[in-house]
Amino acid sequence: MRNAIDLAATYDFYPQMDIKGDRPPAADEILCSCIQKLQQAFVTPVLPFDWVGAVKYEFEDIKQLGLTYKGRIVFNPRFLTEWTTVHELAHAWDAANNWLISDILRKETHSRFTFPWLHKMFPDKKLFWYHVGSPPAPCGVGKNFTAKEDFAESVTAYLFPEVARGKASKKGFSYAYNGYIHFHDTPRGQFIHSLFRNG
Ligand SMILES: [Zn+2]
Repeated sequence: MRNAIDLAATYDFYPQMDIKGDRPPAADEILCSCIQKLQQAFVTPVLPFDWVGAVKYEFEDIKQLGLTYKGRIVFNPRFLTEWTTVHELAHAWDAANNWLISDILRKETHSRFTFPWLHKMFPDKKLFWYHVGSPPAPCGVGKNFTAKEDFAESVTAYLFPEVARGKASKKGFSYAYNGYIHFHDTPRGQFIHSLFRNG
């Protein structure tokens, strides 16, 4: 565990952040290091999204791992990992852009819900799950998978490709099935790659 002064020495943006709620001692450092990893993924002249000033962070006992709204992320303090943190940070970036980035990803990969109303009625029926065009999905598909989740998982998989590959094959969605080994080579990996370079 490191104190606020130490953290500010490593992450000069830390004192400007708005973080509230009871959280484990390592939480602030995980948050800072994830923000920094995302910032460093952007290639000049593309400016990183402002995770420091444009998002407020709260820790609260919630059912989910995290919940993201425009300008606000609520984290579950019991399950804070780098993976969930980057996932929610990606949602915040998308939310700040009125969820347009995930919609562009959806269109570029030709993904969609074929029968959205049937998916609502029968969420467990695989046939009505989100259709992943230009596969593979970053970590497989489930009943809660949507365009927004696709984007958040793609950003996270881009930063942690080995973890993503493991998650995908564990769920039975190995990249090899679509002829890929590394997430960065997949259509979604390429999309995120160019997003960090071209905005
Ligand atoms: Zn999510």
